[in-house]
Amino acid sequence: MRKGSLTGVTALKKKLFIKTYGCQMNVYDSDRMADVLAPLGYEPTDQPDGADMVILNTCHIREKASEKVYSELGRIRHLQNEKAADGGRMVVAVAGCVAQAEGAEIMMRAPHVDMVFGPQTYHQLPEMVTRAVRGAGGVVNTDFPVESKFDLLPEESAKPQGPAAFLSVQEGCDKFCTFCVVPYTRGSEYSRPVGQVLNEARRLVSHGVREITLLGQNVNAFHGEAADGSVWGLGRLIRELAEIDGLARIRYTTSHPRDMDDDLIDAHGTVPQLMPFLHLPVQSGSDRILAAMNRKHTGDDYRRLIDRLRARQPDLALSSDFITGFPGETDQDFADTLRLINDIGFAQAYSFKYSARPGTPAASLEGRQVDEKVKDERLQAVQQLLNAQQVAFNQTMIGRTLSVLFDRVGKLDGQLLGRSAYMQSVYVQAPARLMGQMVEVHITGAYANSLSGHVVTAETVTQPARPAVEAHA
Ligand code: SAM
Ligand code: SF4
Repeated sequence: MRKGSLTGVTALKKKLFIKTYGCQMNVYDSDRMADVLAPLGYEPTDQPDGADMVILNTCHIREKASEKVYSELGRIRHLQNEKAADGGRMVVAVAGCVAQAEGAEIMMRAPHVDMVFGPQTYHQLPEMVTRAVRGAGGVVNTDFPVESKFDLLPEESAKPQGPAAFLSVQEGCDKFCTFCVVPYTRGSEYSRPVGQVLNEARRLVSHGVREITLLGQNVNAFHGEAADGSVWGLGRLIRELAEIDGLARIRYTTSHPRDMDDDLIDAHGTVPQLMPFLHLPVQSGSDRILAAMNRKHTGDDYRRLIDRLRARQPDLALSSDFITGFPGETDQDFADTLRLINDIGFAQAYSFKYSARPGTPAASLEGRQVDEKVKDERLQAVQQLLNAQQVAFNQTMIGRTLSVLFDRVGKLDGQLLGRSAYMQSVYVQAPARLMGQMVEVHITGAYANSLSGHVVTAETVTQPARPAVEAHA
């Protein structure tokens, strides 16, 4: 019998609804939960009404995360009651980082919940489901088990949905940025063995996947053990993945500036499958704030790093994360952040108002919390600047021909939607047979969050697919 599978169990078909909050790692985890539950007869459904099991796969990164989960649980309780009135049973579970942080508290506040389990335990779902369905009380599992869930997940899981897939290679974090809950909810850093990652990648490609995004809370800290006992960094892993026939695109997220080593930087210039787009959170442009955040790099360290990356790959488009109103942030600190944004020039970025996360060091910086109104104003200012850079970057695409991987159907009749190498959404009128294909698209429209254009036939391609980008700072 395969590790982690339940072959031999004849199960009746049951409906499984998973609602995923937060990051791509949660999306990946939700898919793996569905894989683990498939041998028990659970089939995914996109509606919670009438489902036999509902899992909320939660995120705890920002404020009100738990409150959102409790209000969703209130809505689910009505559906659970309706199902019971029809003589059925809806198992309700809370998974992910809120489950890890709140544990049994969830069952106290929402007694209709049957299972609460953290991100490291979902390989134990079959046992937990059995206990929850047969047992008297609910199941709470927020352990950090000694065995890795990755070793115990079904090796051959459900088919990927579409031509772009996530592949989790690393989890957890030992960096302890003072604002962040991840080291507490996801545990310490762990890298999957190289062989496991390569096998999963080959399987995805054999099912038609053309683009793989390697995931990790600190993905560039990857240090996976190979069969010969050597330890591979992310750069080496990417080079090996690039050898897989049919894998056209590789991406990775999320990275920490301190873990960008020479080999990974070099891969950006030498591995054509590695897309010219990098999400590299900096959080702030002020050295004082970066130190208080425990980021262990300065604004200039970040600038130099970007210079090195651009020297290897001049076509590189950058993305980042910013926090406004970290405790003690002054107008000057904030001005330093705006200066850094202007110096670098981002193709896109995410920005958040600082929110105190219980249990993190920054949350207890008494008397240093920034006024909500100031945080809001700074957030607006930062977003205005970042949006302007994003629009300017998108406009540099007009007149270019870009490779687009079509992975979704658009809202309009005959419309397909795909991603450019730089992660932009591209809308095109195109025949349905092109779904899942990489197609050359001539860009004619550029908007705040997307591009539009038309499919170019081979005869009319006049520009290379990836010309160098003009400076977009
Ligand atoms: N590991 C990544 C890194 O080192 O930057 C990011 C992890 S976190 C899931 C994603 C983003 O959420 C962070 O980059 C940060 O900008 C934001 N974030 C995390 N904690 C936050 C907090 N307490 N308040 C506001 N934003 C926060
Ligand atoms: Fe959180 Fe990222 Fe810092 Fe780790 S490196 S503590 S995940 S922000």
